[in-house]
Amino acid sequence: MPLSLYDTASRTVREFVPIAPGKVGIYLCGATVQAPPHVGHIRSGVSFDVLRRWLMARGYDVTFIRNVTDIDDKIIHDAGHEDIPYWSLAMRNERAFSRAYEVLGCLPPTYEPRATGHIPEMIELMERLIERNHGYAVRGDVYFDVRSFEGYGSLSGQRIDDMLASPDSAAKEKRDPRDFAMWKSAKPGEPFWQTPWGPGRPGWHVECSAMAGKYLGEQFDIHGGGLDLIFPHHENEIAQSKAAGWAFANFWMHNAWVTTSGEKMSKSLGNSLLVDEVVKRIAPVELRYYLVSAHYRSMLEYSDAAVAEAGQGYRRIEGFLQRSLEMLGGGSELLAVDPALRPQEFDDAMDNDLAVPQALAVLHEVVRRGNAALAEQRMAEMSAAFGATLAMLDVFGLNPWDPRWASEGSTGTQATEVIDALVRVLMTQRQEARSRKDFAAADAIRDGLDQIGIRIEDTAQGARWTLEK
Ligand SMILES: [Zn+2]
Repeated sequence: MPLSLYDTASRTVREFVPIAPGKVGIYLCGATVQAPPHVGHIRSGVSFDVLRRWLMARGYDVTFIRNVTDIDDKIIHDAGHEDIPYWSLAMRNERAFSRAYEVLGCLPPTYEPRATGHIPEMIELMERLIERNHGYAVRGDVYFDVRSFEGYGSLSGQRIDDMLASPDSAAKEKRDPRDFAMWKSAKPGEPFWQTPWGPGRPGWHVECSAMAGKYLGEQFDIHGGGLDLIFPHHENEIAQSKAAGWAFANFWMHNAWVTTSGEKMSKSLGNSLLVDEVVKRIAPVELRYYLVSAHYRSMLEYSDAAVAEAGQGYRRIEGFLQRSLEMLGGGSELLAVDPALRPQEFDDAMDNDLAVPQALAVLHEVVRRGNAALAEQRMAEMSAAFGATLAMLDVFGLNPWDPRWASEGSTGTQATEVIDALVRVLMTQRQEARSRKDFAAADAIRDGLDQIGIRIEDTAQGARWTLEK
């Protein structure tokens, strides 16, 4: 079965054929850095990280561009309130986004262009559009003439006449009220750049066309973003880029939202859903598991309870891996990921528009059989389940032995290994105390561990410990 992906533009799941064999170029609309990210903001980063990892697992060399929109009305406005330059506020929030992507295990982009670093490319694109009579300047603003581009509205499935006017100022000076601003003339006190049409700053849409074109070329494989970007942002990107004569993106992919009480998660919910805050309550690897577990085109209703439940699911998988590793002797060579061990059904599910829920069902079934094999000490079967589970988790960026989870101090290995060694020292001392019938000392050790949430269990294979969550 060939890899197939849902393309918003054609509204079909269709076979993915790269433009250049073995290579994939992806442009993902990144953050407009107005504020630090909440869980909803970060879903697209995680969804497209899974796409990227699957393409890599399929042998593709992926160039992944995710931009930063570091100037817009709100950034300028809020920076004014804080009496700091716009770039200072933008940088602070950009760092919060980078931290969130990293803490959730997203691979760093191949390149992360900032809008304000690409003004010459935007001017060049606008000049080209004006030359081709798709753009026009009015007193320092530059607009895109939507009626000049046949097919405007096709991505979002709308007719021009049904669309509302674009909210840009100077409506009466526009050829059509739906024409959108590619460039905005400077208002007093605002940051600006010089252009052939006077001083001003870029509109959002032109930024992404210019940056995608610069790093991926006139035609590239996949353009992505959240569902809310289809209109007007992506519609306008298509209009600008195609009117300039570029073929632009072959596939348009959109992830659904994280919702709270059925609504798109928003800043008005306060700070408790900021990624920085959530990862204080929930292990980052478990938050990633939660975000990955739904299909990327399905809405995901957020609650701490839902994440906690997902966390339990992840810990069941992790627990199986830990116990089998122990049983297999714990050698580090066991932790090498072998992609050939992934079950065919798992690959088929991922090839079918990244059907993660089905792929996870395969994974959980392998874990279930692995646990049964573990209980009955059928070593070969358990070992196969261990390798398959590890290979599948790796595709999701959820390999518990990935050093990134260890460095976050969550359920990570490094910390676990140190704790394991310490607990074993104490368990040996307890065993020695029991051998010399010093039960008071033995109980004191067990009670001490119990108080910090470490439970000791005597099993046929010797004593083992678990951490109470
Ligand atoms: Zn964009």
